[in-house]
Amino acid sequence: MKKQKIIWSGTLIAALLLTGCSSSMETQQEEAQGNPVAIESPETAESKGDEIEQVEPEPILVEEPKEPTIEEIKQTIDLSVKPNEVGKVMVLMYHNIGEEEKTWTRTPENFRRDLETLYEKNYRPVSLKDYVRGEMDLPAGMTPFVLTFDDGNENNFRYLETENGWELDPDCAVGILEAFRLEHKDFDPQASFYVYGSRPFRQEELIGKKLQFLLDNGYEIGNHSWGHDDYTEEKYNDSQAVAESLGKNVAFLESIIAPGSITTLALPYGHRPKEDSARLALIDGSYEGTEYENIAILNVGWDPDKSPYHQDFDPYSIHRVRGSEMNVDNVGLYNWLANFDKHPSQRYISDGVVEVITVPVEKFELLGEEYRKGEEWVDRVYTYSFE
Ligand SMILES: [Zn+2]
Repeated sequence: MKKQKIIWSGTLIAALLLTGCSSSMETQQEEAQGNPVAIESPETAESKGDEIEQVEPEPILVEEPKEPTIEEIKQTIDLSVKPNEVGKVMVLMYHNIGEEEKTWTRTPENFRRDLETLYEKNYRPVSLKDYVRGEMDLPAGMTPFVLTFDDGNENNFRYLETENGWELDPDCAVGILEAFRLEHKDFDPQASFYVYGSRPFRQEELIGKKLQFLLDNGYEIGNHSWGHDDYTEEKYNDSQAVAESLGKNVAFLESIIAPGSITTLALPYGHRPKEDSARLALIDGSYEGTEYENIAILNVGWDPDKSPYHQDFDPYSIHRVRGSEMNVDNVGLYNWLANFDKHPSQRYISDGVVEVITVPVEKFELLGEEYRKGEEWVDRVYTYSFE
């Protein structure tokens, strides 16, 4: 709710009272802003001989047009798109973009086709942060997905040396995403890049330029440990060893980019320590004065994850889908696209407004308790039926 605008006037002795009717409110607002309001000044009153007490200046309240209520917003939602904000979300996992298609490598052509296919099927990228915070702002009828790249290989983000200086390689992941952005105005490629060690994206002299480009253009940089560390190794049952592995990487990155930028983690190999105390160090900790805190932890991929409003959503164990062709293990992007084509009711579909969570009535019970019963959300959940 916007605050009322208060205009103070030093010598005014009358306050303009406004009624609730919106059409007359507009007229009065125009008067208040544009036309002088005739006001008797204290001097004039005295010269008439009237006894007047010193009057404190009073504020004039000018109400702005009222924002729609939650109930009014609900009435604007287009139910024909069958919004389902407790449906599943794909977090796509890529590694390399390269000439030959392999298990962990996608060719530039195939990656472009992935984006085009997703686009045509009304999937739109959201950042991992917005996903885990439940702050995905998409037009009605669109399905969010998250793009992630592990390992920070050079083929993710490469500059080519040309006569005109350094130019973005059109066949690296960032080059493909930036070209796709230019061709599709309603597709903001907010990918997350999970990097490790002292040479993210490899071209040493360009590390700072690349990291800053990512942050300036809506991408995210995430933690992939300092040494691509395997947390099932015995030594990582000590929480301090985990803190060193993660904190060292954050310290290095924060020596180049703004502190506080690294808030998500992709587990190398998808592995976690066995000990609970060491597992907790994946979420937050500190190493030699560098503190880190992760709001999301990514596993290696096999299936879509839940809506952030789902009662079983766990931001510290996010499932991913492999950015690959249909494969026999049913873990690839095209397996899941086919699955959602066949079962569209499983898919998260946006209602187009951020103020309200819209779900088919039969899925209401899947929502987390805070959305079903919590004070903040209870009036902002909208259920409907297609019967
Ligand atoms: Zn990795």
